[in-house]
Amino acid sequence: MTDLSHALRDQVRGRVVTASDPDYDDARQVYNAMHDRRPRAVVQCVDSADVMAVIAAARAGGLDLAVRGGGHSVPGFGTVDDGLVIDLAKMNGVRVDPVKKVARVGGGATLGDVDHATCPFGLAVPGGIISTTGVGGLTLGGGLGYLTRSCGLTIDSLLSADVVLADGRQVTASDYENEDLFWALRGGGGNFGVVTSFEFQLHAAGDVVGGPLFYEFDDAAAVLEGYREYIAHAPEQLGCFFGWQIAPEAPFIPADRIGDLFCVLVTCWNGPREETERVFQPLRDVAEVRAEFVDVMPLPALNSLFDDAVPKGMQHYWKADFITELTDEAIAAHIEHGRNTPHISSSMHLHPINGAAQRVGAEETAFGHRDKNFSPVVAGIWDDPADNEANIQWVKDYYAAIHPHSGSDGGYVNFMSDDDDARAPANYGASYARLAAVKAAYDPDNLFHVNQNIAPANAGVTA
Ligand SMILES: Cc1cc2nc3c(=O)[nH]c(=O)nc-3n(C[C@H](O)[C@H](O)[C@H](O)COP(=O)(O)OP(=O)(O)OC[C@H]3O[C@@H](n4cnc5c(N)ncnc54)[C@H](O)[C@@H]3O)c2cc1C
Repeated sequence: MTDLSHALRDQVRGRVVTASDPDYDDARQVYNAMHDRRPRAVVQCVDSADVMAVIAAARAGGLDLAVRGGGHSVPGFGTVDDGLVIDLAKMNGVRVDPVKKVARVGGGATLGDVDHATCPFGLAVPGGIISTTGVGGLTLGGGLGYLTRSCGLTIDSLLSADVVLADGRQVTASDYENEDLFWALRGGGGNFGVVTSFEFQLHAAGDVVGGPLFYEFDDAAAVLEGYREYIAHAPEQLGCFFGWQIAPEAPFIPADRIGDLFCVLVTCWNGPREETERVFQPLRDVAEVRAEFVDVMPLPALNSLFDDAVPKGMQHYWKADFITELTDEAIAAHIEHGRNTPHISSSMHLHPINGAAQRVGAEETAFGHRDKNFSPVVAGIWDDPADNEANIQWVKDYYAAIHPHSGSDGGYVNFMSDDDDARAPANYGASYARLAAVKAAYDPDNLFHVNQNIAPANAGVTA
């Protein structure tokens, strides 16, 4: 045991896992198995005091520091070679106040933790489509999911956050205190400190009607065109994204079609039940639905419907943009490359970000792309590292074909890969300069740099 881990063990209540511990390999592993890094210690923090101790140790030792919420980031930001990891997974408590319709959520909670706690009250935080994703990273980057069109991005429901800063102090950021920090946290990623707890406004969400509609790949042009028209004006309580999907073995897939490539519209209707048919009919009219799994289900069931398709430990390489308009040329490029979707877990998902997300002012939060209508992500996900080259090439070729039709350089920070660092200014978009000023005020030495990094502007300049 090193002096460092000795000292840390004296100071923290959580476990300090180092290479001499039998569970070191487990503790250092993040979701994307491409990142096989060896930190000096993974500290499984249980409270803010633990977080403060690790920050102090990293500063004193001049060590790289990674902060891990759910560990899902494709670039593996939740781990680091030879540095320290603040692992927040044990800080996953959720307290619901059903009267005020507010939830206090630990910085290491997953979306599933939040759903589990809020669902019995008929309430929800707008989150993402896989329940094992961390609330921490997802929220700090923005947060897209089934409720985006009706409730906005996840950050639009954030009321306050407790943050341990680079200098070791814990502060609360909200509309009433440390407002510049609060602005920056909502879209600026993990650049400003460690969020030990989030306070969210909750929204009514009981059972929803949702799930995927499967269409023939050959109907993809009609599906994409019809989707483009409908989602621009569809009732906002409809969440619906487009994707490619190789048919899995499932009771609703005809046996002779398992393994065939389809396109899908994945739906979530959180509006009045009697309007379901009327709302879904335009989606059924775009082309013949060949298989479907659309049903009434609790929102957490929909939010975890695809978890098994993307377990921890697969290989991930993603590329993403924001787009205002889905042009006919872009649709042709999607079809050309979607046709080669190489693995059942790989896809391109086209998430809509209109509706409530666009009613928040461009400068109210740091999310720099409020004017965009869609967030497309080419998500390469596969099992075998021997297939890395071919799968990465598929993502690169696909992205190269659609990017010229995007009309913007930026993409969603949460959908980036580890070779996308140079895109950070474009990804933060119009907010970048102001984010750099807030960074200089709160983290002038860039202690928190294992992320989609924002370089501090001249130290001492405030936003
Ligand atoms: C399978 C899969 C599905 C996804 N689906 C969606 C989706 O539907 N919608 C969507 O918006 N995104 C989605 N994402 C992207 C996801 O939002 C990002 O990967 C996000 O970074 C994950 O957050 P995390 O806490 O799990 O990751 P981590 O790797 O733990 O963290 C990611 C970044 O956030 C920082 N961070 C995390 N927690 C904290 C904290 N408490 N305080 C300070 N910094 C913190 C980390 O330092 C790191 O820089 C998905 C990703 C995957 C892999």
